[in-house]
Amino acid sequence: ERVVSAESTVTEEITEQQLRPALLKEYIGQDEVKDNLSIFMKAAKLRQEALDHVLLYGPPGLGKTTLAAIIAHEMGGQIKTTAGPAIERAGDLAAILTSLEPGDVLFIDEIHRLNRVIEEILYPAMEDFCIDIVIGKGPTARSVRLDLPPFTLVGATTKAGMISAPLRDRFGVLARLDYYKPDDLAKIIHRSAYVFDVELTKEAEVEIARRSRGTPRIANRLLKRVRDFAQVDGHDRISLDMAKHALERLQVDPLGLDHIDEKLIKGIIHRFNGGPVGIETIAASIGEEADTIEEVYEPYLLQIGFIQRTPRGRVATPSSYTHFELEYRKDG
Ligand code: ATP
Repeated sequence: ERVVSAESTVTEEITEQQLRPALLKEYIGQDEVKDNLSIFMKAAKLRQEALDHVLLYGPPGLGKTTLAAIIAHEMGGQIKTTAGPAIERAGDLAAILTSLEPGDVLFIDEIHRLNRVIEEILYPAMEDFCIDIVIGKGPTARSVRLDLPPFTLVGATTKAGMISAPLRDRFGVLARLDYYKPDDLAKIIHRSAYVFDVELTKEAEVEIARRSRGTPRIANRLLKRVRDFAQVDGHDRISLDMAKHALERLQVDPLGLDHIDEKLIKGIIHRFNGGPVGIETIAASIGEEADTIEEVYEPYLLQIGFIQRTPRGRVATPSSYTHFELEYRKDG
């Protein structure tokens, strides 16, 4: 299990519930998204309407589920959660939609994985708050229109490009979540430490933040693991040295990179002379799946400028050479 993975594990779901802020003002960072949402929510409340449908997109672990729950809470409704691949038949979606109360939020994670038939049922639900369902089979089959209460669909995706245009156009609010700044992550760690009832110095918070790949879920996980080391060693308060020591033992380097990132970057440098090299070729050479590299490892490395995407493939940048103490020679 990769400690710097942005995906959540089943056991983490439980603590994530406790860590989730309930109000927009407790949600740290993502200021632009927050400012806009707060205005749209106020306006919808003034008009006594449900908030327009919201599409949240961005890398995993940045707080899309948290934000959806906050929207429901702030709008005075309940949240019903599902995921694109979980809705297989029209009846599944009809059952969820007809169970909604006015002002509720329907949260669909991985919305890019909805199948087309289901998507088409969603269109009138989103536009006119109604669905047409077919009752019976063969010659006696008839279509019945069901009215739905005004609700807000919050869709989340890590792949905005894979959402069909007709679905995307039906969202009134599109909000992109970005990797968090270290300052904001330090605040998230501070808040989580309070929830976990652990004490750590400001410097220790900043150190964990720096190594969290801009991702709250990773920040919370590193905090928990650092706490484990401190507890076993019998310390009540986590100092900078203790945090560093624990993070080194977890093999998370000062920029939050681990052995897989290292293998990937050094693979490009040593085997392909720094690139450009196609993703499939890199994948085969280091024994990883191309999709996994593209979706899981690469986004953060692109963000910190360690690799670049060019039409001819991936290139390792001078910063990555410096980081791994290798000499940069452009022409090999
Ligand atoms: P995925 O798309 O992989 O499901 P996500 O983007 O929905 O991930 P969440 O589950 O909402 O991510 O957040 C991950 C964890 O980070 C949660 O424990 C949540 O409490 C915490 N978190 C996320 N964003 C914030 C924030 N802005 N302030 C405080 N805590 C946050």
